[in-house]
Amino acid sequence: MARKHAERHYAERIGWLRAAVLGANDGILSTASLVVGVASAHAERGDVLIAGVAGLVAGAMSMAAGEYVSVSSQADTEKADLAREREELETDNAFEHKELAGIYVKRGLDPELAKQVAEQLMAKDALGAHARDELGLNEIHEARPIQAAMASAVTFAVGASSPLVLAIYAPQEYLAASVSVGSLLLLGVLGGLAARAGGAGVAVGAARVMFWGAVAMAVTAGVGALFGTTV
Ligand SMILES: [Zn+2]
Repeated sequence: MARKHAERHYAERIGWLRAAVLGANDGILSTASLVVGVASAHAERGDVLIAGVAGLVAGAMSMAAGEYVSVSSQADTEKADLAREREELETDNAFEHKELAGIYVKRGLDPELAKQVAEQLMAKDALGAHARDELGLNEIHEARPIQAAMASAVTFAVGASSPLVLAIYAPQEYLAASVSVGSLLLLGVLGGLAARAGGAGVAVGAARVMFWGAVAMAVTAGVGALFGTTV
């Protein structure tokens, strides 16, 4: 029992860690690409930093808005499903018994045993049993869209601040190169961490995010250089 409990908490912690690492990855990748793009257009450090800070704030706000909307709409859907289920339990309890027993038969129980299990679980907590086994809601938990939005904005901003710090201290002539290399290394570390947290190969996780980071920075550097020569 203690081990199962510990495993569930470990899984929750891993979930949060992965979300935080991925949020920070987004911050690094989008802000570093922006900084590299503007620096490749031969902009002065001050202009690069203004663009970078604007990118950090815009990115953090859009991540927060996106997270808030997605968590809220998921919570709305769950609430609506539970309300419909509650109503069905009130209006057609006999059918709901049969339905739940049917789910257990499909999972391999004998019909007689399935009927008994359905009866006992519905006697204890009918809505909980249907929510878990029919709707697939493991836990009826209170959605926290504000917390999720804040967490998403903060992890993005923390990630985004690292290419900005690099842009403050890098020599002007190597600004784009230093921000690219420094950000790619950071992405690799975080990518490896996220992979490790999810039980996947560290090297593969690091290589994957570094590859796409390099592609994103190369494309924005190219566009920046093009604009730098034409504008
Ligand atoms: Zn049902």
